[in-house]
Amino acid sequence: MRIVLVGPPGAGKGTQAAFLAKNLSIPHISTGDLFRANISQGTELGKRAKAFMDAGNLVPDEVTIGMAKDRMAQPDAEHGFLLDGFPRNVSQAEALDVALKADDVKLDAVLDLEVPEDEVVKRIAGRRICRKDSSHVFHVTYSQPEQEGVCDVCGGELYQREDDSEDTVRKRLEVYHTQTEPIIDYYRTQGLVVTISALGKVDEVTERAMDALK
Ligand code: ADP
Ligand code: ADP
Ligand code: ADP
Repeated sequence: MRIVLVGPPGAGKGTQAAFLAKNLSIPHISTGDLFRANISQGTELGKRAKAFMDAGNLVPDEVTIGMAKDRMAQPDAEHGFLLDGFPRNVSQAEALDVALKADDVKLDAVLDLEVPEDEVVKRIAGRRICRKDSSHVFHVTYSQPEQEGVCDVCGGELYQREDDSEDTVRKRLEVYHTQTEPIIDYYRTQGLVVTISALGKVDEVTERAMDALK
């Protein structure tokens, strides 16, 4: 299956993507995680992306689209993938369509996670992620690790993302409404959008998502 996950920052995309990717046996591709891996490894791409991320802006398309396409071209993504955080504007969605068409494949669904803004703010304020792998996600009250400050998956140190500060979150929400939400209409015209509520326990949301993807 080829799936795109959309939803505001803090909706639970990364959290759900981990379970869905496992259930569906497809790789979880998160452009945010790819950027953070590049930043922690000090690559040129990471250096280019960092200032945009810290300000809560989108990283320019010419950096992002190439990175996403390279990742999708890897062998594990040949028969499907779950995209998390890409596309994030209409021109990225168009670039994705062109790339898929060239491979003669199509998206199966765009899963839209709906969460009220006050809940999103609470989720982001308590989010802690792993230094070794930013796809390992916790929350200070909703999803505590066994040992405070330590990743259950790999033992890495947990920290708060720099861009999860209150000011930057406000900016990211604005960017979401102005630049990312329009892709939902774009995909609606292709009949691909399924919207679910992302409220409730993590496993309840996963179940809802699996039902919606049937
Ligand atoms: P969240 O899931 O909390 O919204 P992400 O980890 O997806 O955050 O993204 C963090 C930051 O990485 C974004 O604010 C943006 O700067 C950058 N980023 C991630 N994906 C993209 C993308 N597809 N296009 C442009 N910038 C992106
Ligand atoms: P390395 O050669 O040490 O893997 P890279 O600069 O190639 O360093 O990649 C940095 C990180 O970004 C890797 O951990 C990799 O998982 C991730 N990554 C995967 N695909 C891409 C891509 N197309 N462009 C940039 N980074 C990617
Ligand atoms: P996104 O990738 O959309 O930005 P995350 O998956 O990183 O969102 O989740 C944001 C925060 O909310 C994390 O701290 C995560 O542990 C927490 N979270 C995710 N799903 C739920 C849920 N169903 N209920 C409560 N908290 C959740």
